[in-house]
Amino acid sequence: MSNLTDFSKLALSPELLEVIRELGYEKLTPIQAKSIPVLLQGNDLVGQSKTGSGKTAAFSIPLLSKVDLRDRSVQALVLCPTRELCTQVAREIRKLGRRHSGLQVLILSGGQPMFPQLTALEKGVHVVVGTPGRVIDHLVRRSLDLRGVATLVLDEADRMLDMGFEEDMKTILKDIPKSRQTVFFSATFPRTIEALSRSYQKNPIRVTIEESAQASPQIRQLVYEVNPERKFDTLLWVLQQYQPDSAIVFCNLKTTVSELAEGLKAAGIPCDSLHGDLEQSARDRVMAKFRNQSTRILIATDVAARGIDVENLDMVLNFDLPAQPAVYVHRIGRTGRAGKSGVAVSFATSREKLKVLNIEKETGHALQQKTPSQLGEKALETRQVLGGSAKMQTLYIAGGRKDKMRPGDILGALTGEAGGLQGSQVGKIEIHDRFSYVAVAADIAQLALQRLRDGRIKGRKFGVEFVR
Ligand code: ADP
Ligand code: MG
Repeated sequence: MSNLTDFSKLALSPELLEVIRELGYEKLTPIQAKSIPVLLQGNDLVGQSKTGSGKTAAFSIPLLSKVDLRDRSVQALVLCPTRELCTQVAREIRKLGRRHSGLQVLILSGGQPMFPQLTALEKGVHVVVGTPGRVIDHLVRRSLDLRGVATLVLDEADRMLDMGFEEDMKTILKDIPKSRQTVFFSATFPRTIEALSRSYQKNPIRVTIEESAQASPQIRQLVYEVNPERKFDTLLWVLQQYQPDSAIVFCNLKTTVSELAEGLKAAGIPCDSLHGDLEQSARDRVMAKFRNQSTRILIATDVAARGIDVENLDMVLNFDLPAQPAVYVHRIGRTGRAGKSGVAVSFATSREKLKVLNIEKETGHALQQKTPSQLGEKALETRQVLGGSAKMQTLYIAGGRKDKMRPGDILGALTGEAGGLQGSQVGKIEIHDRFSYVAVAADIAQLALQRLRDGRIKGRKFGVEFVR
């Protein structure tokens, strides 16, 4: 059986196997084990498994193994519902494709200037990752030619349907050859996907990974029964008890997100929040800070948190329990990944016992009932809720991909002779089109800022600031 989860048993190029090894992917995840062989054979597929189970690589690996680098026409199109997801998917394809020299992966998403997209398309790209709206804009302008597309992937297909992209998808499909391979991936499997599959796929293979088979034993699931008026105090108490370095607090309503963010800030606890009204640039900034551990606490609604992919998340806190058990499973699936342990804490009021029961039924696990022991009359010393600040601090650098900035340039400027910092003091580096973010250890952040301001990157001066 074991060879079914072994990458080296797949018919992949040595380069791809090498990258997979370098990335530390030791075994195929269940959805990958079931879908990659099917996709390599050229079949259509509908794949469903929970968030965080490795669906991106499940379609990216077969897609990369088919790309002909000498042919600079669009050979694969991946459609995603949001710009954030496009960015994540493109990042994963570039990561897996880093030994495919000359591979061009282009993001076509809205809210971005048109001109650079047009220039890139003119030069020729192999893979396009885009949102339906922007892809159609390019089809209308005739700047995008899909006649060479051999693989079409719909990522988060359920979400695309929720967002009303069906008509757009029809429009796009008209421009893609019938001989294509059509692949859908999604976290849930509503009936609408079945209908979509019938209309657009040929003899699709359906792969579903049961939730029960996916429930991670690494996640401790606790539930605190709380009085609605004491929820906020209980939140402070839980944060104090567990001291998470990285936690997402889920609320059911946008207004609760803002209230909590204000409450925590008033109590001297730094946090960020994500909600639907946020501008894309603010959202990118919040996400970057959270991913690179400059923010310990992120407060979000389900919609805003959709597609968030964070390594090292050690706590998910359900400030409000979701109405549907599947949403609970989704939320907590973000912690305890890749063999790391995590804790999922939920608050339930006395009227929410049924919700808890339904969740237990869905997950097949009893939640551990807890009472916040010291939450008596004694007021919390709120200033001490989280001992210490975030591990990292984010710096903004006013140069990005358009300036040919690469992670190595920033790392070099910080650690080289001029920079003098240790590699271990530098965290995640994110290169955007016109700017970059780099995380540095919080205790040397001031020094790092100074070194970057005094020095040069790629022989040039760039503006550098703290991101608060
Ligand atoms: P999904 O799309 O199912 O929500 P992702 O594709 O975003 O999940 O994957 C979640 C994380 O798992 C990513 O950080 C990815 O790099 C990592 N990952 C993917 N495949 C493997 C693997 N075989 N082994 C270890 N980690 C993996
Ligand atoms: Mg995904």
